[in-house]
Amino acid sequence: MALLEIQNKVSLLITQNVDRLHQKAGSNSVLDLHGRIDKVICVNCKLLIARQEIQDWLISKNPEIKSDYLEAKPDGDASLSQDFNYTAFKIPSCHKCGGILKPDVVFFGGTIPKERYELGREAILSSDALLVIGSSLQVYSGYSFCRFAKDHGKPIVILNDGPTRADPMVLFKCEDDCQILLRDYTLT
Ligand SMILES: [Zn+2]
Repeated sequence: MALLEIQNKVSLLITQNVDRLHQKAGSNSVLDLHGRIDKVICVNCKLLIARQEIQDWLISKNPEIKSDYLEAKPDGDASLSQDFNYTAFKIPSCHKCGGILKPDVVFFGGTIPKERYELGREAILSSDALLVIGSSLQVYSGYSFCRFAKDHGKPIVILNDGPTRADPMVLFKCEDDCQILLRDYTLT
């Protein structure tokens, strides 16, 4: 995807992932539709804090967490042992207002900030087409961009190894492994 951006073929990459792997792979123009797992936000004043800062605080105030900490999951959750002492666990709060902190990601059932949708829609309006790679579009936020593109006469092309929710509205679809398709593209 980073190569497609360098070649001026992609103006904006809209991702539902929160892990920043697209940026690590070299993409600069990325809309993190569902937020970023490397940030923490105050639900009250919306102050953004680096996740690492909170992680360091948690470890320093809860030294016992290391032995109980099993493994961080891709969605930012972590599994703790059954006998973990939750009552003694120290929870960080917002530096500014004392509010509750949460990862800066949109959880299941949460609402995506309107301005993020606007950014994606503006990019579609100024583009020739919408290219969907590696998504079944079962999550409405992604599918809504396909509906928007269709409503505004923008062709939709999908590369996905399986059916997608937007199949009835595509101009062209290629059903294959996206990694292979993109690798072959970079070799040509
Ligand atoms: Zn706050």
